[in-house]
Amino acid sequence: MDYYSSYISKLIEQLSCLPGIGAKSAQRLAFHIMNMPKEQVEQLAGAITTARARVRYCKNCYTLTDEELCPICSNPRRDSSTIMVVENTRDLAAYEKTGKYDGVYHVLHGAISPMLGIGPDDIKLKELMRRLQGDVKEVIIATNSSLEGETTAMYISKLIKPTGIRVSRIASGVPVGGDLEYIDEVTLLRALEGRVEL
Ligand code: ZN
Repeated sequence: MDYYSSYISKLIEQLSCLPGIGAKSAQRLAFHIMNMPKEQVEQLAGAITTARARVRYCKNCYTLTDEELCPICSNPRRDSSTIMVVENTRDLAAYEKTGKYDGVYHVLHGAISPMLGIGPDDIKLKELMRRLQGDVKEVIIATNSSLEGETTAMYISKLIKPTGIRVSRIASGVPVGGDLEYIDEVTLLRALEGRVEL
């Protein structure tokens, strides 16, 4: 690594910590950044720092937002008695893009994975249960159809069943192991409409 400046080595090291960026990509990006105009690099660095500093969790649904309440939770036209549970904000965005869902969301920020040592306390599950003390009629579980997503769905449905609130799971149509964010809107809508009660 020390064929070049230690500053570049440091940058490569930092970049390679990002998901999906291997050693080679990190190297390519680092050298690309070195050839960018200084102002552009400042804008990039500034955008990262500002986003990280300003963005926080919505106090209701835990999606990423820059307000106390996200635009969905603060919209009186959304039906707050229907909560769709998703793994992350990207999945929320995928459903929002369909424009056909008028309920609200709950973002778990992960899924239960015994293999990775991620348990129920490591995701925003207690926060979901707290919300259910309000006026909630249905919880739609829209976690991914991966092993972790299914484990999480089962766990949540078991927790909610005794409360008498309707629990449903989005239909298959979402391919097994598929990440929601890569699935087209028609498939997402079909999965939502064909949801089955758990
Ligand atoms: Zn919210």
